[in-house]
Amino acid sequence: MIASSNPDKVKEIRTMVSDLKEYEIISPADFGISHIVEENGNTLEENALIKAKAFHKLFGFPVISDDTGLFTDALNGEPGVYSARYAGSDATYTDNYKKLHLNLKDVSDPDRKANFKCVICYLTGGDEYKFFEGICNGSISRDPKGENGFGYDPVFIPDGFNKTFAELSEEEKNKISHRGNALRNLKEYLING
Ligand code: IMP
Repeated sequence: MIASSNPDKVKEIRTMVSDLKEYEIISPADFGISHIVEENGNTLEENALIKAKAFHKLFGFPVISDDTGLFTDALNGEPGVYSARYAGSDATYTDNYKKLHLNLKDVSDPDRKANFKCVICYLTGGDEYKFFEGICNGSISRDPKGENGFGYDPVFIPDGFNKTFAELSEEEKNKISHRGNALRNLKEYLING
């Protein structure tokens, strides 16, 4: 089970693991359930584990959870673990990236480097869990661009591209993204042990 009630993430993860034919991939939404878990950990690993345990307790299935942060060099790693609530607890995706743009307004292009880090927790029961990590390096744009994806995608330009994540197709993003890289590590483990 993909342990998330974020439809954007569930869609991305579902697409990327759909070739694991021996697994049936389900999500809480398949049961009509949206369960919000308070992410009060201090690290991506802690938050991923909190979510994995909460969904496993509720459903009993082996679960995949992910926690992601956007770390910017010029702001000493902000928003990092607090990416989801950067502009406040009820912040929208737009509120969050506007705050980031404001905080980076005096930062010149070469210093706008950032990276997405994704930690996936694969939990099969109680204390049986493993973490998988994926990183994508890039920089923060001056203006939001593109309609695809979610979160900070309109302001993140991955290294080697002159487009934001939100201007790439889902397939293009998945090939290079932090979540894609973490999921490829998980898949390698599921296939080869
Ligand atoms: P969390 O993993 O749900 O805690 O995500 C933290 C925040 O990072 C969310 O508010 C999302 O906006 C953002 N985020 C997570 N993954 C991505 C991504 O792939 N692209 C852009 N933003 C993301």
